[in-house]
This record gives sequence, C-alpha cells and structure tokens, in this order.
Amino acid sequence: MTVVENYGSLVFNDLVMKNKLPKDIYKALRKTIDNNTHLELDVANAVAVAMKEWAVDNGATHYTHWFQPMTGTTAEKHDSFISPTSDGEVIMEFSGKELVKGEPDASSFPSGGIRATFEARGYTAWDPTSPAFIKDQTLYIPTAFCAYSGEALDKKTPLLRSMQALNKSATRVLQALGNTEVTGVTTTVGPEQEYFLIDKEDYKKRMDLVFTGRTLLGARPPKGQEMDDHYFGSLKPRVSAYMHELDEELWKLGVPAKTKHNEVAPCQHELAPVFDTTNVAVDHNQLTMEVMKKVADKHGFVCLLHEKPFEGINGSGKHNNWSMTTNTGVNLLDPGKTPDENIQFLVFLTAVIAAVDNYADLMRLSVATAGNDHRLGANEAPPAIISIFLGDELTDILKTIEKDQFFEKHAKVQLETGATVLPHFFKDTTDRNRTSPFAFTGNKFEFRSLGSALSVSGPNVVLNTAVAEALDHIYEKIKDVDADSLEEKVHEVIKDAIIRHKKVIFNGNGYTDEWIEEAKKRGLYNYPSTPDVLPVFIEEKNMELFLKHQVFTESEIRSRYEILLEEYNKTIHIEAKTLVEILNHQFLPALSKTIDSVVTLATKKKALSETLSMKTELDEIEKFSKAYDSIYESTLKLEEEIGQAEAMEDELKLAHFYQETILGRMEEIRQVADCVEGKMPKEFLPYPTYSELLFYV
Ligand code: ADP
Ligand code: MG
Repeated sequence: MTVVENYGSLVFNDLVMKNKLPKDIYKALRKTIDNNTHLELDVANAVAVAMKEWAVDNGATHYTHWFQPMTGTTAEKHDSFISPTSDGEVIMEFSGKELVKGEPDASSFPSGGIRATFEARGYTAWDPTSPAFIKDQTLYIPTAFCAYSGEALDKKTPLLRSMQALNKSATRVLQALGNTEVTGVTTTVGPEQEYFLIDKEDYKKRMDLVFTGRTLLGARPPKGQEMDDHYFGSLKPRVSAYMHELDEELWKLGVPAKTKHNEVAPCQHELAPVFDTTNVAVDHNQLTMEVMKKVADKHGFVCLLHEKPFEGINGSGKHNNWSMTTNTGVNLLDPGKTPDENIQFLVFLTAVIAAVDNYADLMRLSVATAGNDHRLGANEAPPAIISIFLGDELTDILKTIEKDQFFEKHAKVQLETGATVLPHFFKDTTDRNRTSPFAFTGNKFEFRSLGSALSVSGPNVVLNTAVAEALDHIYEKIKDVDADSLEEKVHEVIKDAIIRHKKVIFNGNGYTDEWIEEAKKRGLYNYPSTPDVLPVFIEEKNMELFLKHQVFTESEIRSRYEILLEEYNKTIHIEAKTLVEILNHQFLPALSKTIDSVVTLATKKKALSETLSMKTELDEIEKFSKAYDSIYESTLKLEEEIGQAEAMEDELKLAHFYQETILGRMEEIRQVADCVEGKMPKEFLPYPTYSELLFYV
C-alpha cells in the first residue's frame, strides 16, 4: 500500500461517508458537523448502518464508545456487533441508538463528588465532529461523557463548549468589523509531543519507573546532554524503525504525523502532526500517546510520557500551537505582509494579549500537574510565570499604535552564509525565543508550558474561553459604531487594550532571576507549584468567566478542583510509598552488601598480615555506614510522614504537605543515595543505572 492509500484507511472519514451514505443523510450529517445542529434519530440510524458495514468490511467485530474521563487517559468498553437469531446463527447489528448513546457506569470514574456510587448512571454521547476509526478490530466512536444530571465528567464536553463560545464571540466581532461573509470561527491546534524511549527489559527492573513513570533515585551518568549531540542527531536504526511504524500506524488512523526528530536529552524524541480543528487535535493527541506506547512495546521499548523521567537532563513537554480560522479559510492570526494595516489581525492579536493577561492564572492552572512541577521554572521549560513573546516587529507595531506614531516596516534581510553555492533566502523578521511560555510564531501562538503526559484539552478550554471573553469586550465597544467612524473606534480600542495589557508582553530571557523580579513588579501572576495554583480555579473572577460562557457549571468547577487536588495528592503518595519500598527492599540491602564486602576485604587483609594498612577500607566503611544511617533515618521519617498524610482530611492542606514536607524529604534522601550509588559495585544494585538506561538503546 502506498502512503496515500494507507492514510486514513481505518477512518470513517468524509470520503467514506460520501460513498456509503444516501445523499440526504450525508447532507444532514455534514450540517451537524459543520454547523453544530442537532442530529435526528433517522439520520443516526442510517449512519449506524453504514458505519457498521464499513467497519465489518474492514475486519471489525466490536464497537466502543471512546471517551476521556478525568483520569487523563481514555476509556473504552467493547460490545460486539453480534445479535443471535432464532435459528442459532448471528447477524451483525448496530443501531442509531447504540451509535449516539452509551451507558457506562459513571461511579468508577473520578467525579469530584458529582456522582455517588448509588447513583451510578452515566452517559456517553456520540461526537460527530470527530471521526470514528478502527483499532484492534474495534470501531471506535469518539464520545462525550456526562452524568445522569447532564454535568460533564470528561475533557471533551467543556472543550466543545469552549469552542462554541469562541465561535460565537469571534464571529460577532468579525461581522461588526464588516466581515459579513464569515459565519463561523473555529480554533486550530497542532500539539508537538515529546517522549523518551528506553529498553523494556531495563524498565521492568525499575520499580520507580513502573509505578510512578519517573526515576526516584539515580546517580548522574558521566555524560548527560551537555555535548548537544542528540538534538536533531541521526536516528539509530532501532529508533528509526520504531518511528517508521509509529507513523504508519498513525497515518492509518488519520493522524497526520508530520515531523519527527531526536530531542535534546539522550533517548528523547519528538513527533509533531499537521494541525487540525481543536477537538480533533485533542482526540488525535490522545490516540498518538496510546499508539506510541503500543508500538514501543512491539519494538522492545517502553515509551515514557512522564514530564520528568530523569533528574539532571531535560524532561518532556508538549507545545500547543494554537490559532483561529474562519469558515472562509482565513487564519485570523496571520499578520499578512502589512500587519500594521491589518485591522482584523490586530483586533484578534490584542484579544489574545488581553486574554492571557487577564487569565494567566488559569493558563498556569491548566498545565499544573505533579510531574510538570519538575519542569516549569527549572531552566529547561518556560518559567511558571505566564507571559507573551511577540517578537520585535509586532512589539514595534503595538508601540507605534500606543504612541500614535507611524510604523516603519522592518526590512527583510537576506541570509548571508558566505557560500555562493547555497540558495539565497530572506531571514524571518524575528528570532525565536525558547524561554517564553506563550510565543507568537508567525501565524499562531505556541503555548509551551504543557507537560508531555497532559491531555491538551484543558489548556485549550482556557485559551478559547479567555479569548472569547476578550473578544466580547471588544464587541461591546464597537457593535453600535457606524461605518464611518468604525476604523477610528477600532484603533482606539486596540490602543486602549495595548496600554492595559502590555505588561504581559516580555521578549527577554525567561530563565533569569531578573525576570522573576521584573514580573513581580509588573504585577504578573507567579504560582511556582501545583498546590499554589489549584485554588485559582474556584476564585470568583475565574468562576464567572466559565459560567458566563457556559463552559462549566459551578458544580463542575468545584468537582474538577477536587479531582485535581486528589490527583496531585495521590501521585505524590504513590511516589513516596514507592521510594520507601525501593529503599527498604533494594537500596539499603545493596548498600549493606557493599559495606559487608569492604569489611570482608579488610578482615581478609588483616588475616594476611597485621601490618597492612586498613585506611582505605576504614574510610570506605565509615562513608558507606554514614550514608546508610542517614538514609535509614530519613526513610523512617518519610514513612512517618506518609502516615501523617494519610490521616489528613483537608485536601488542599494535604497538597501543601506533600509538596513541602514529603517531596522535600524524598529529595533529601535522593541526594545522599545518588552520591553513594556512584560508588557502589554495579553487581549489588538490583536495577539499571542512568548510564545503562540512557546510553544503551
Ligand atoms: P517547532 O519549530 O515549534 O518545533 P513544528 O513544525 O515542529 O515547529 O510544529 C509546529 C506545529 O504548529 C505543527 O504541529 C503545525 O501543524 C502547527 N501549526 C501550524 N499552523 C498552525 C495553525 N494555524 N494553528 C494551529 N497549529 C498550527
Ligand atoms: Mg515548538
């Protein structure tokens, strides 16, 4: 099969629908997908029949409602198409009702108090805007997941609501600007995904990786990432074979995997797809993470998606490239050749700036997880302070608007390589800034603070809603202005927004301490850790935003806040308990074996000759014994603290206790342990070291 034939071959996409569905049914379904109209049951019935036939033709025996509960991963329950007949045979059946609605037990998924076990009913509802596909002989139907009361229990429902909110607000603004052709605006996302590949056999021997996804102990290898020789380095055959199969599997599923390369850290890689409508991009990213793990297993690898699997080398993130597109195909964040004259672009640009300035706290919240706390602000990923990088040209344009000056276009400069055989081309007018959490990159914004394991849903819910709100403010100011004075009024609105929100624009180095100071002076939010930022979810200003745009109800917000807290606490609880187990079962016994071996050596030496020097052995015994005592004592304390945590009831207080006390204790143990690990004989260590994990793939 060629790539073109292979691509989307397992997707119930537009072409398949067009071929399989009666014309009127196809039209009705298209209308639902394009204009978010309600879908009638007779249409659903016809689609179900076509879908089943297509799925069975392609080897499917089962179907599943595929959804995204608040666990962060996806969930599925498989039903076969078979229906027994009276003569003892079976036929393959699938109805419109089964397509549009499923009834999983909601009580076993996190609900933050919305669902109690005694009222377990939950529903999954077909999302026709994300195409169904076949995986493992099963027809996967993307669905939203909600409680009996209609409250969302998943990550898709609020995302769809936020896209609806942005659509409404953006379309109104465009029409008020005189762009009456446009009747809809959608947001687009291209998530770049980083990951690590390590050997499966090594992985199995590391209890920390198995239980927590990250190493809790491990001395630094002699070589890390300091030689910069992995980034964009040539792919090793084993890795290349993996990436090749990954691409093919993703293409079959209609995921437009485009770019792949080695990342900065050893064993670290990246995959980026071509961008898509946000809803589809979110589903595809979930699918990508799943397929990454599955294909890794086939190649004898384990794919690590944790944000910080190894200390001392870069962790993994996810860059959320985001923009807005009209139904006439115009990218609203494309500045064009003369951005200073492109009023429409400037309106949408200032709306994004205002949104980020007003809701930077929610943006920080949307990327807050226990794993991501290890990256943000650690000079490998953006700082925890959310600011915007615009680049020189746009910053200058905004300055001239603010000061009522005339903008002088930055001249395009030819790239001088000094070698005449090389092709000549123009440089971009702005360099890149890798330290910024939210950077303008030509015709889109790149939100760079996401951790690699995160569903991209949350950050986009915040972006869409915050920008919708900013657009509403603009709309209120221009809606009643007549055509003659419109341009002047818009100019005034933009200028006003720039003055108020320019404090969030920062083009400098976000990794410096000066920036932390400067950001504080500017009054920007800075929430270093997850427990610090979670409570902003239930602050009045933020609740109002979500309620106004009907993205969350109050009980949905409160339940999600609970879920986030619980998730954080459980994560660190598991990490702490895993560390205790490794220390008691593996590390301390290995250390005592080490001490024993030196004692044995000393005893033998002494037996050989009373006059031989014992200095080295005694020094070693002292050093190892000190470390042993220290780790032993700290482990006891850690166990005691885990007990204290288990008795605490207030989840927020508990989160702070985990963050400050327990993580602190784990770090203290790690420092001592990592120091001695490098001096212990390898055969005593029951698990592979960093050197083996990172440099032998
Ligand atoms: P980088 O240089 O940041 O690593 P990549 O080419 O790896 O860039 O990734 C850029 C991502 O941005 C791709 O997924 C691409 O499809 C996406 N992208 C491009 N244009 C848009 C847009 N208008 N909206 C959303 N995402 C976009
Ligand atoms: Mg990027």
